[in-house]
Amino acid sequence: MAGLLQSQFTRGFEYADASADDARLVALNALGAADKGATILTRTACTAAHRQGDHWHVELFDQGAHAARNVSARAIINAAGPWAELVARDVTHTPTAGRLRLVRGSHIVVPRLYEGDHAYLLQNEDKRIVFLLSYLPGCTVIGTTDQAIDSPDIERTASTTEIDYLRDVAGRYLKADVRYAPVLDSWAGVRALYDDGESDPSAITRGYRLILEASGPPILSVFGGKITTYRKLAEDALQHLAKHFPHAGSAWTATEPLPGGNLGGRRLDAFIAATQRKYAGLDSRLVATLVLRHGANIDLVLRSARSMSDLGEHFGGTLFETEVRYLQNRGWAVHADDILWRRTKEGYALSTAERQHLSEWMASHIAAGTL
Ligand SMILES: Cc1cc2nc3c(=O)[nH]c(=O)nc-3n(C[C@H](O)[C@H](O)[C@H](O)COP(=O)(O)OP(=O)(O)OC[C@H]3O[C@@H](n4cnc5c(N)ncnc54)[C@H](O)[C@@H]3O)c2cc1C
Repeated sequence: MAGLLQSQFTRGFEYADASADDARLVALNALGAADKGATILTRTACTAAHRQGDHWHVELFDQGAHAARNVSARAIINAAGPWAELVARDVTHTPTAGRLRLVRGSHIVVPRLYEGDHAYLLQNEDKRIVFLLSYLPGCTVIGTTDQAIDSPDIERTASTTEIDYLRDVAGRYLKADVRYAPVLDSWAGVRALYDDGESDPSAITRGYRLILEASGPPILSVFGGKITTYRKLAEDALQHLAKHFPHAGSAWTATEPLPGGNLGGRRLDAFIAATQRKYAGLDSRLVATLVLRHGANIDLVLRSARSMSDLGEHFGGTLFETEVRYLQNRGWAVHADDILWRRTKEGYALSTAERQHLSEWMASHIAAGTL
């Protein structure tokens, strides 16, 4: 701490937390659900839903294929995050479901400010917290802002004002002058907070509310929530619907790893070493990277590959054809950006020309039916 912070900061508090890549977490949950029999429809909007007797008539629109389809459902869970209130009002016509407060949060990525994988939480004078996170090799993330907004449809990158704010807060704590630190990347997201009447966005509850409307076939709306508690929330949601699904069974998520998370009782480093031995003809650092991305699913990615030439085309960084094919088959990847930014973070490692080439390669193989 002493090397990074200005000398007047002499006391801090330490605690441990976990980190996750949110995009991969979503994809792995979808994969886990598919493995248990769920039908996953990506890029598909629920455009309308009406009660018809004891079920819901639901209209869906596949935005990729530009095709509409209808399904019927015994119940609906409205888990549309920041859009949940709009879905309740305009899609399912159950507007009494509750109110959301929307808060925009932005992060910026700058060249690494410190060594180590720990984080710093900095208390700003406006009572907001700004944190520094170790991110990818060579980078630090500074985040996040808390700006009240009216619509969930926002620009996905940090604004100039937000960039200045984040660098300014960090600059008040750090020895290094970060006011002009180059911003390598940025992103903005919308927090959906249950409106508990608090006026200060930072003080609104980060807890969730589940609201059941069961005047006919039920609809359960999810308001707010955190990644940290998503499994608890999901089990709670099913508890709310238990009366309507008496054969649903009891909660099971506490002991269920995500796909690829079951390492057979081995520690991660032991699993990596064993996988490197198994794929001895491949670059050992590449194998370690792929294990970090896919865990025990590594065999599904590498399949019969035993030498580097078995991996197919090399797109740059640590991205090879065999992984692209796996992510298309078992990860719903359709566009290069799905792979470069949401299934992996190889977008940072590939040049513009390499990213363009991957995009064209995927488009041509999908059109030809060979991916
Ligand atoms: C900047 C920021 C930082 C955060 N930091 C943390 C953190 O450190 N720890 C933590 O635990 N949580 C954090 N969160 C909160 C966390 O990201 C959210 O709680 C979580 O993403 C909510 O997941 P969700 O599935 O409910 O909603 P979302 O991830 O928003 O998903 C809702 C989905 O519904 C879809 N949708 C909307 N309308 C329709 C429709 N009509 N038909 C079909 N689909 C529809 C949307 O396209 C979207 O994919 C943070 C959030 C932000 C914005």
